[in-house]
Amino acid sequence: MEDQSLQQEGYFGEFGGSFIPPELQEVMNYLTEQFNKFKDDPEFKEELSYYLREYVGRQSPLTYAERLTEAWGGAKIYLKREDLNHTGAHKINNAIGQILLAKRMGAKRIIAETGAGQHGVATATACAMFNMECVIYMGAEDTRRQALNVFRIELLGAKVVPVDKGQGRLKDAVDEALGDLVQNYKNTFYLLGSAVGPHPFPTMVKHFQAVISEESKRQILEKEGRLPDAVIACAGGGSNAIGAFAHYIDEPSVRLIGVEPDQAPTLTEGVPGVIHGFKCLVLLDEQGEPRKTYSIAAGLDYPGIGPEHSHLKVSGRGEYATVTNEEVLEAFQELSRTEGIIPALESAHAVAHAKKLAPGMNRDQILIVNLSGRGDKDVEQVYHMLRA
Ligand SMILES: *Cc1c(COP(=O)(O)O)cnc(C)c1O
Repeated sequence: MEDQSLQQEGYFGEFGGSFIPPELQEVMNYLTEQFNKFKDDPEFKEELSYYLREYVGRQSPLTYAERLTEAWGGAKIYLKREDLNHTGAHKINNAIGQILLAKRMGAKRIIAETGAGQHGVATATACAMFNMECVIYMGAEDTRRQALNVFRIELLGAKVVPVDKGQGRLKDAVDEALGDLVQNYKNTFYLLGSAVGPHPFPTMVKHFQAVISEESKRQILEKEGRLPDAVIACAGGGSNAIGAFAHYIDEPSVRLIGVEPDQAPTLTEGVPGVIHGFKCLVLLDEQGEPRKTYSIAAGLDYPGIGPEHSHLKVSGRGEYATVTNEEVLEAFQELSRTEGIIPALESAHAVAHAKKLAPGMNRDQILIVNLSGRGDKDVEQVYHMLRA
């Protein structure tokens, strides 16, 4: 019970909360109230499950990776196939959920920020589908590096606003989007892309991504008659991982393992701090500023992490590991070769860690690897890395 009341205030242990100016806090209070009002409403749930089924293509399969299991020679490997969702990743689950909430709240306009562009594409997709005006803030530097995603977003009928201020990166785009929200909150909804940010976003994004583990738990019980020994997912902001973990958190026999790039090891080396309006483990440099991170997987390049992961780490319920770029590239190729599934580079982090764990486990043990997305978006980049 104690945990639940803490969660209602947006805290996970000491992490989470809301560290924002008063005018923004009012908007967040209203959002919290509306989210709580609709999330368990039978009509809202019905509408959400309709679009998840008919538009996203859920449920996603839990595929037994027979050849990979054989090759690694230990635990049975199951893949949760978020790569098969419309748009090719888990982000659409959250985008659809938040848009349906926005509609209930009477919003006419959706705004979002994007760094690499994937969240911008998911948001623009959902906005096209629901005929909502859509504005995506993107650092000017990022619009140049991700020109194709800018074009994709525009094809989907949304507007991209390049942000020149600051360094022209994700953080500056977030600031612009928040400024827009404070001005226009009466008709505008800010659609956040990961389980980060001030309350209620981490709780809300988890709610919409929890469908991943709701399904996988049912599926593994049907297929194997028992729970998995571990669930493994990559962690950038932490939304696919918290969704993949959610329904196992209260099952102590199931290990929950998040995997990060060794060049952005937030949960391994981070310290408690406030970033983007919430408290979490964060990587700081010598000056105490958020450290510049780098990842070959654009979706994992974030110096903070969701507050619930921070709490799972500190409380010992969650385990967090890092993998190197070489291990990720190897896993990317191995899954492609052995199972005919080209994973997103982000997801290949989870595969790479599973490869280390599986051989040391028994053949009757079970690992679920969350394949957060498909790798089509990364093929050209991997081509340059392997052929260069
Ligand atoms: C964005 C993205 C991630 C990282 O985001 P999380 O919020 O940590 O899930 C991981 N995988 C894919 C395919 C992504 O697009």
